Amino acid sequence: MRLRRLWVRHQGKLLALGILALLVILASSPTPLRDLVKREEEGVVVVRGERKKDYHDHDYLRVESRQKGPGEMGIAASLPASLDREKDDLYKVNGFNARLSDEIALNRSLKDIRHPKCKEKLYLANLPTAAVVVPFHNEHWTTLLRTAVSAYNRSPKHLLKEIILVDDASTKDFLGRKLDEYLATHLPIARVVRLPERWGLIRARLEGAKHATADVLIFLDSHTECTTNWLPPLLDPIAQDYKTAVCPFIDVIDFETFEYRAQDEGRRGAFDWEFYYKRLPVLPEDEKNMPEPFKSPVMAGGLFAISSKFFWELGGYDPGLDIWGGEQYELSFKIWQCHGTMLDAPCSRIGHIYRKFAPFPNPRKGNFIARNYRRVAEVWMDEYKQYLYMRQPGWLKVGTGDLSDQLAVRERNKCKSFKWFMENIAFDLTKHYPLVEPPDYCNGTIQSVAEPKLCVDSKLKGQFDRLDSLGQCGQSSQFMFQLTAYKDLRPLKSHNCFDVPDLKGERAPVLLFGCHKGLGNQMWKYDVDNQMIRFGHYGTHCLDASVGNKEVYVALCDATSMTQKWKWSYLNEERLRNYDNLDPKP
Ligand code: UDP
Ligand code: MN
Repeated sequence: MRLRRLWVRHQGKLLALGILALLVILASSPTPLRDLVKREEEGVVVVRGERKKDYHDHDYLRVESRQKGPGEMGIAASLPASLDREKDDLYKVNGFNARLSDEIALNRSLKDIRHPKCKEKLYLANLPTAAVVVPFHNEHWTTLLRTAVSAYNRSPKHLLKEIILVDDASTKDFLGRKLDEYLATHLPIARVVRLPERWGLIRARLEGAKHATADVLIFLDSHTECTTNWLPPLLDPIAQDYKTAVCPFIDVIDFETFEYRAQDEGRRGAFDWEFYYKRLPVLPEDEKNMPEPFKSPVMAGGLFAISSKFFWELGGYDPGLDIWGGEQYELSFKIWQCHGTMLDAPCSRIGHIYRKFAPFPNPRKGNFIARNYRRVAEVWMDEYKQYLYMRQPGWLKVGTGDLSDQLAVRERNKCKSFKWFMENIAFDLTKHYPLVEPPDYCNGTIQSVAEPKLCVDSKLKGQFDRLDSLGQCGQSSQFMFQLTAYKDLRPLKSHNCFDVPDLKGERAPVLLFGCHKGLGNQMWKYDVDNQMIRFGHYGTHCLDASVGNKEVYVALCDATSMTQKWKWSYLNEERLRNYDNLDPKP
């Protein structure tokens, strides 16, 4: 009775007291309770039993959309002619237009070039934390900082734990104390780890990884820009299975204008049997599934995420790999053969400045790249290593050094054979890059019938990529060519092919461009009966030359024109007559 009377009389006060107590508890209770409430408010949804959320920072996107200045939205920029001297000086030491970079905001905005569905994608509400590791050797100030700033600004703050810049014995003054002080003031989650001497990028990455404390390691080059929501797509597959490594799509930051653009919408990574990095087409089922992550046999190398746990189970990189070269193969083979998975995540896009030229000399004497390649081949490739040595017998003369630690990694992890990798992961690689090269259609010199003293000459005289002239026939390598089984035409053993990118009108120049083995504007055919070298699928244009000024080009085919007739020193007539029936077919 008394209690009820008390309640009735003081109802209002008691209720207020209760609410107050609840508020105090909520405010002072350890974070989980508050976190949970807040996160649910932020839009966590449950999808097939998994808590997921939208990680886009919409407020920040609005801020970015109002930014104005050179290079904003990733649009091409340029410098006034008055800065030509400064521009040249910085170009020389960087291999890109570093002076222009200084005019562009560190936090410049970029256009969103992701697959449209990326805007709607949700990722696990609980993701592991990440450490960004960036090795650098004499990197330019603003491109280095833009790497760190873009990674930081476009990441959920609770996920990016640290940015570790590894200074591989840089000699530029500003990369010393000035950099430390700048980071301490402006970007405290970033710090510099310094190496005592030039260790090269592989051991620099290893050293950075040793300093990292986050769950996931993300390696970046020192002249990159992370774009909108780049981080969650890399972390989500790792959260689901720690033995997964994830690569972003790598876009192009133009070395001259800093324009931001796609290189393409995805390929699977691979290699040829001289260990050149190559790319295979995306599989049709993965194409249908875009922009979901898809399996890739080999990473490009510079940009990827891997859990620290898995990285160290694999022994990190082989520390016997010197400077650079082969490390992307080593880690990719290890990931696959030792029970992991490698994915490309189309919704994570990071731009990279592909340099115009390599600005610094390499610090080692001797063939360290061949040594690196041999270490990878000997430990991981089993009987397949012979296909490398067959093409590069010189590598066998280079010592590998001690491999016992690497062989122990393979043993300890009970890793699968290279044959398994080739048959299950890189199963279409030999279709594009056969173990043994199929025979050429034609090779040797290409002699002009109109003027038999003259032959096609691959030594370029004008523009750097334009095949432009005839020369006095000789036996030196500049006169040797091959019409390969891929139906492309190239200087003997070259990786550049005769390419006609712009076939308009009667006459067009021939460029030497990286061979893509995709036919199209690199497809050529030798017409045995007419002695003509026909370009392309339809064969409307043919290789031609003006004997007078020795210029070479393609022109509309004319079987009566002597300057369109060419003699090869060797040709496989049977194969040429069967050309249209042989693979690859256009
Ligand atoms: N790098 C390094 N030490 C070296 C060579 C390169 O730390 O001895 C760094 C370099 O600063 C860059 C990354 O490793 O961040 C990859 O090198 P680079 O960009 O020159 O290679 P590319 O992207 O041109 O293949
Ligand atoms: Mn680079």
